[in-house]
Amino acid sequence: MEERVRRTVMKHHMLEHNDHVAVAVSGGKDSLTLLSLLVKLEERFPKSKITAVSVDEGIEGYRDEALELARKACNDLGVEQLVVSYQDLFGITTDEIAQKHLGQTPCAYCGVFRRKAINKAAMMVGATKIATAHNLDDEVQTVLLNMLHGDPLRIVRSGPVLRDPRGRFLPRIKPLCDVSEKEIVLYAYLTGLDFQGATCPHGSEALRNDIRSFLNQMDQKHPGTKFTLQRTAERLRELLFDAAPVSELNECEKCGDPTPHRLCEACLMLEAIAA
Ligand SMILES: [Zn+2]
Repeated sequence: MEERVRRTVMKHHMLEHNDHVAVAVSGGKDSLTLLSLLVKLEERFPKSKITAVSVDEGIEGYRDEALELARKACNDLGVEQLVVSYQDLFGITTDEIAQKHLGQTPCAYCGVFRRKAINKAAMMVGATKIATAHNLDDEVQTVLLNMLHGDPLRIVRSGPVLRDPRGRFLPRIKPLCDVSEKEIVLYAYLTGLDFQGATCPHGSEALRNDIRSFLNQMDQKHPGTKFTLQRTAERLRELLFDAAPVSELNECEKCGDPTPHRLCEACLMLEAIAA
């Protein structure tokens, strides 16, 4: 698996020799696996640096436990860690959002806030890149999800490496994009990683869960389904890259972050929550 991740990194030109990579570490099996693999990979690049960035969404009895595991792992690996919280950044926790019973599930808000929080943390530590632990399963689920949402351009604009042609967002890389969830579980057990096994008490996206079961059934019946879907998405990106328009960016009127609209998605959500 280490060799495959190294090949993925090379194939997509994910890392430069002098990168400072902010690794998003939640304390789950995927992110702890990613962190330990990147630390090994990084040993070959003396000018590079790794910092773990973790987000405290404010989910009692769940995230606090995971953050403790993340802290321990960083300690063991000798990696500096920065923890940022929704409370500090946005003045509200995911538990509080869930109690408000808003129009969307708490996951919808949490996902947008997490992306922004990781960006912020990565900027704070002076990183040149962000690495996230999305695996093969996450990636192909997202491809199907975007198809079912009728959003083909989002398939084209996502993928193993996200580079903002305008240079306003830090590049994001997904070194585990060719590794299945099953393999990561196995790796985590075999290498004795102490990871959080519990799932979030606020549940997860219903449609994604259905897609997950569908893809698992398909892959069991027709081995290779997930890889084929991944390759199809890659091919689509190559073919349609120039067809996906890049929107102009403004500065969010509230927080100053780059956004194609008047307000960024997170500020828009914060306004809706406060209303
Ligand atoms: Zn904003």
